[in-house]
Amino acid sequence: MSDSYDVVVIGSGPAGYVCAIKCAQLGLNTAVVESWADPKGKPVFGGTCLNVGCIPSKALLDSSHKFTEARDHFSVHGIDVGAPAIDVAGMMKRKDKIVTQLTGGVSSLLQHNGVTVAQGNGKLLSGRNVEVTAADGQKAVLSAANVVLASGSEPVTIPPAPTDDAVIVDSTGALTFDEVPRRLGVIGAGVIGLELGSVWGRLGSEVVLFEALDTFLPMMDAQVSKEAAKVFKKQGLDIRLNALVTGTSLKKGAVTVTFTEKGEEKSAEFDRLIVAVGRRPRTKDLFSSDSGVTMDERGFVFVNDYCATEAPGVWAIGDIVRGPMLAHKGSEEGVMVAERIHGKLVQLNYECVPSIIYTHPEIAAVGKTEQELKAEGIDYKAGSFPFAAIGRALASGETDGFVKIIADAKTDRILGAHAIGPSAADLVQQMVITMEFGGSAEDVQLMVFGHPTMSEAVHEAALAVDGMAIHMPNRKRR
Ligand code: FAD
Ligand code: AMP
Repeated sequence: MSDSYDVVVIGSGPAGYVCAIKCAQLGLNTAVVESWADPKGKPVFGGTCLNVGCIPSKALLDSSHKFTEARDHFSVHGIDVGAPAIDVAGMMKRKDKIVTQLTGGVSSLLQHNGVTVAQGNGKLLSGRNVEVTAADGQKAVLSAANVVLASGSEPVTIPPAPTDDAVIVDSTGALTFDEVPRRLGVIGAGVIGLELGSVWGRLGSEVVLFEALDTFLPMMDAQVSKEAAKVFKKQGLDIRLNALVTGTSLKKGAVTVTFTEKGEEKSAEFDRLIVAVGRRPRTKDLFSSDSGVTMDERGFVFVNDYCATEAPGVWAIGDIVRGPMLAHKGSEEGVMVAERIHGKLVQLNYECVPSIIYTHPEIAAVGKTEQELKAEGIDYKAGSFPFAAIGRALASGETDGFVKIIADAKTDRILGAHAIGPSAADLVQQMVITMEFGGSAEDVQLMVFGHPTMSEAVHEAALAVDGMAIHMPNRKRR
């Protein structure tokens, strides 16, 4: 292994591995350092996303969704499969296989692109030298013209609910339960809490979610949050707002949770408890104090709009920097940094990063919410269209939810798109593309949408922006 590179990337999550591949494609001599190792000491690629995040959670969400389809929805199609049973071990095996396939795929891609791989813990020293400490304690130093920090994040723990990896678990533990808990508590009704609560709720757990805030999904458009609360309640998720967990006690394989709900002290018992109260950047011991890199009090590395840190030639991307903790945001930062190192002044449009909650119905958003525009004093017009009036949605029995588009009142330019319902993520992605091209509501109104498709809800929502939807009576025009 050479010890001098054009680029050394620390971390091989979706931010780091994409950056490394892009750098190699651009002809840069690139190495990636990864601390995660399998029992044989070989590096495990793909980070949180592929191993314990996006992918395994979506595998379980899809399995559990299929289970509810068979249990609750097949009969209306005239399909009688009797009462389905869940084989948790089988479901986990399938999830693990998908993870192995994808992490192995990243390994092959790194190899195919000629990226050098170093297993070990990377630490940036001064002068863009990276010290790598392997699992066996051996140290090596890689020097680089550019270093990219991409060490990702880890679950936040809270003193009232210390995890024991058995009864009280974090998101990683909740992906490996060996049976369906009868009573499941979840602390935090954010994206991860809702997704994991949904998986086990669908399979039969009685799920209670404790959320300290008094608003449900405050980052989403309020109309979407309201619809989501209604649908999740119908599904049996017991979401307690204004409920702050203050303590836990373990006894005989169960946990008693004490919490303050709207000022009142209460308690409840569960067989399993998932702590899903957020994630924090993994920046402890990532760089020496003389490296020139700085971070805020919460551990996020300071970067400019282009992910350059305060140390020349050192960049930081993904969950360790400002912005949403999302795999695709980190990957595109990785691409931007690779291009910049190579000399092309690419820039990322942070206004157009979509966010998705993979519950059923799915929830997705890009751009501004109504409440943000009101707070910013921007005059806008909004239109929404329900899936209940979309032929394809009726044919699929997926009639909950709607698509909503918000446009600037003066220029008609689309400022935000929000959806809850079937294919919400893919429909919002259509608006990401439209917004990237500076598209207006009228542009979408004049496009041809295939029939019958879920996309027709996008078309109709754009028409509804001007009170001109065809397949529903329109509200009085503004
Ligand atoms: P990570 O994926 O955390 O990767 C960092 C890598 O760096 C790790 O492999 C780590 O071992 C390595 N590393 C750390 N320190 C060092 C060091 N000093 N030396 C060497 N290596 C080091 N996001 C989405 O966009 N969509 C989703 O559906 C989604 N679902 C999620 C579900 C769950 C349950 C969780 C927990 C997260 C989910 N996320 C989702 C978030 C997503 O996983 C993260 O935003 C994403 O993985 C961040 O990418 P990253 O490359 O910055 O860091
Ligand atoms: P997210 O950051 O989207 O993963 O959401 C985590 C959620 O957990 C936030 O909405 C927090 O308000 C919530 N939370 C954090 N601590 C507690 C607590 N002790 N009790 C209940 N909810 C909490």
